[in-house]
Order: sequence, then C-alpha cells, then structure tokens
Amino acid sequence: MNRETSRELYDRSLDVLVGGVNSTVRAAPQPYPTFVQSGDGGHVVDADGNRYVDWVMGLGPLLLGHDLPQPVESAIQRRASEGPMYGVPTELEVEHAEFVARHVPSVEMLRFVNSGTEATVSAVRLARGYTGRNKIVVMQGGYHGAQESTLVEGDADHRGPSSAGIPPEFAQHTIPVPFNDTDAVTEVFEEHGDDIAAVLVEPILANKGIVEPVEGYHETLRDLTHDHGALLVWDEVITGFRVGGLGCAQSEFGITPDVTTFGKIIGGGFPVGAIGGRTDVMEEFTPTGDVFQAGTFSGHPVTMAAGLETLQYAAENDVYEHVNRLGDRLREGLVEVVAEQAPEYTVVGRDSMFKVVFTRGGSAQSGPCAAGCRQDPDCERHDACPTDASDVGDAAVDRWNRVFRPQLLDDGVMLSQNQFESQFVSYAHTEEDVDRTVEAYRDAL
Ligand code: PMP
Repeated sequence: MNRETSRELYDRSLDVLVGGVNSTVRAAPQPYPTFVQSGDGGHVVDADGNRYVDWVMGLGPLLLGHDLPQPVESAIQRRASEGPMYGVPTELEVEHAEFVARHVPSVEMLRFVNSGTEATVSAVRLARGYTGRNKIVVMQGGYHGAQESTLVEGDADHRGPSSAGIPPEFAQHTIPVPFNDTDAVTEVFEEHGDDIAAVLVEPILANKGIVEPVEGYHETLRDLTHDHGALLVWDEVITGFRVGGLGCAQSEFGITPDVTTFGKIIGGGFPVGAIGGRTDVMEEFTPTGDVFQAGTFSGHPVTMAAGLETLQYAAENDVYEHVNRLGDRLREGLVEVVAEQAPEYTVVGRDSMFKVVFTRGGSAQSGPCAAGCRQDPDCERHDACPTDASDVGDAAVDRWNRVFRPQLLDDGVMLSQNQFESQFVSYAHTEEDVDRTVEAYRDAL
C-alpha cells in the first residue's frame, strides 16, 4: 500500500511539531503515523487516498462514526454560523447539563471544561477542597490524562512522578494501588484514611488492555471512601455514554460515585470534558464555593451542540443496540481466531470496546477472556482475564507495534496507536466491517 504522502508529511512535521505530532501516542505507529485526509462512516481515508476500516474512532469520542446524522450535523453548522463563541453563557450549556443530569443518576450538577485532563485536574482539586485533605488514591495502569497529580508510578511504599517536570513531592500525595486488589487499598486506607481526599478510578481500565473489575471491587472502594470521609471519583472519560449506554458504566455496575469525570462522547467529536456530581460537592467550585475553576472555552457552543445532539440522537435511535451487537460479533469472531491462531493472547472488552492483548508469556495465563467474564463466577474462562495492569504489562508490545499493526494497516484496517488502548465500534460500522476485520486479524495472527 502506498503511503508516500504520509511519509512526506511526517518528515515535514518533524521540523515543526515536536516528534511530528500534537499528542505523544500518535507518534507510536511504525514506521510513521498515517495522516488522515477525511472520515467516511466507519472508515477513514488517508492522505494517499487509501481507505481503512477505522477502529480508532478519534480514540473514543465518535460514537456515531464520521458521517454525522443530519440533525447532529446541522446543529453543529448552525452554531458555527452564529459566531464561534462568546465568553458568556448560552442556553445550550443548560440543556446539555440537564440531559446528563437526567440520565446519570449520581449527577445533579455539572461543570463543563475542554478535555478529559482538565476534568480530572478539576475533580482532584474539588475533592481536596471539599475534604480539606491532600492525598488521592489511583490505580496502577490507570490513566487520567496528562496531569501532575496522576502521572505517578510505583506503589504505596515507593512512588515518584512518571514524567520529568513534576516535583517528586507531588507524588507523595498520590498513592497508586493495584486495580482489583481489595487488600492493598484497604491497607492504604488503614494507614492514610484520614488524609485521603479521593479515590480516582476508571470503572474499567481502558488504557491498559481493558481490565474489568472483579466482583465486589468497586463496592469495596465505595465502602472504604464512604467510611473514611473520602470522595469516590469515577473517571468515565472513556466509558461515559458508551458502556452501559446513557446511564454510563455506573449504571451498569450499580455504583454511585460522588463525582464523575466525563469527556470524549459528550462533546460529539469536539474538545470537551466535564465534572459532574452531587450538589453539595459540586457547589464547592467557585463561584458558590472556594475551589477555583474557570476556562475561556468551557461550554463552547459548537461543542455543546455537537455533544447534546449526539446524545439525543443516541437516546432516540438504536445506537447502543447497534454498537453493542457489533461489539459482541467482533469479540466472538476474535475469540475464535485467537483460540485457533494465538491461544496465549487475550480478547478483552465489553459493549463497544475491544482489544486483543498480546500477553504471550505474560502472567495472565491468557486465552480468550469473554466480555463480562470477570463479573460471572461461573465463567469457565475466568482465569484468562487480566486482573490488573501487571497482567498485561509484559505483552508483546514490539510484535504488536512493528509487525501486527502495520500488517493490519496494509490490509485496510486501522487500529489504535498502542497495544493497550481500547478500540471502539461506532454506529457507522457495519457487519461487513466487523467480518473483514476478524479476517484481517486471522491472517496477521
Ligand atoms: N481519563 C481517561 C480514562 C482517559 O482515557 C483519558 C484520555 N484517553 C483522559 C482522562 C484524558 O482525556 P483527554 O485526552 O481528553 O485530556
């Protein structure tokens, strides 16, 4: 497949964009990133005119795919034609907040921001302000954006910043624990319970191979935070309005967090984030409370129109039924292929999220791990499912980056940029896209 224009664009970009990209993960694809020209339904067309089935889907925001349904498209066009933004409130922000509050049981009030990172930064500050405490607990292998408080590696005893440019003292306020390990987090609360402002957790680790919670883990986090006066913050930047449909992952798992962070889908493909939660907690934000929070672009009218219309469209059409059904078909096909071709690998995901983790020789003992298996004590493949980030940590990353992904690309299938990041089914994908992709995996594996 000729990707000469992408190669030339990358060469050019290396002079003026750091590492040739505007977000670090985009530099990962070998030997250079594919530059996209346009989207078309469940597909993208690159700068050389090659067409791919697209499972990146903007890294999560594009629930409806690249061709927006007419009401969504025209709402965006209308807003953009009425002046890009104003710096004063619009009715759209109220309507969007009303929609989210109506559908997500734990959310009474919201504050919109411009990215998932901004949402988690603000949520951590809110939790610290509300509780008057400094420490937060996060999951090893969890991801909450490029922010100082959560770019931490190590464990409860030995930890430090995972990036240069962050003072080591910051990491002392953030305690990483292994996901799904009830004892570890209980011990941390026994030792630091009075100093912990919040536990910040993704319902499913979506940036580290898709790791599902074991039965009772989220309930334990809910109980511990409640008993120690800390807040439970669910990062639903990826799962929000994807897993569990309009009620989000918290409805699916039956947990009521104090605060939820959103991003991606709620902006309908435009830059967005939001913090939502109980009124007494949310009103700690200025101007009602003392936790300062502000943003020039927050609640941007075009973003609000795109997000609200997307969610309304999903509420009124068979969007979740379609993406979840195709997700099942895709995972079932991949489970079959993996069982035949690479039984040491692991198929993970649920609803419209999927990934094949290359856990060759990994501690996960691998094999196909069916969606929802983690929650089902009778699932025969229970041991095959990763339990925490370390189970997928020694996956065959180079094989995936240098051999597998490029081969799928040549076969007309675009996967997310790294081995551990989820891939997404959209409303625009078809059964044919799914079947073609399963065959491409079969050939490559
Ligand atoms: N939280 C989670 C769970 C995420 O997956 C991400 C990004 N993928 C973020 C926060 C950060 O969002 P953003 O990239 O919009 O800043």
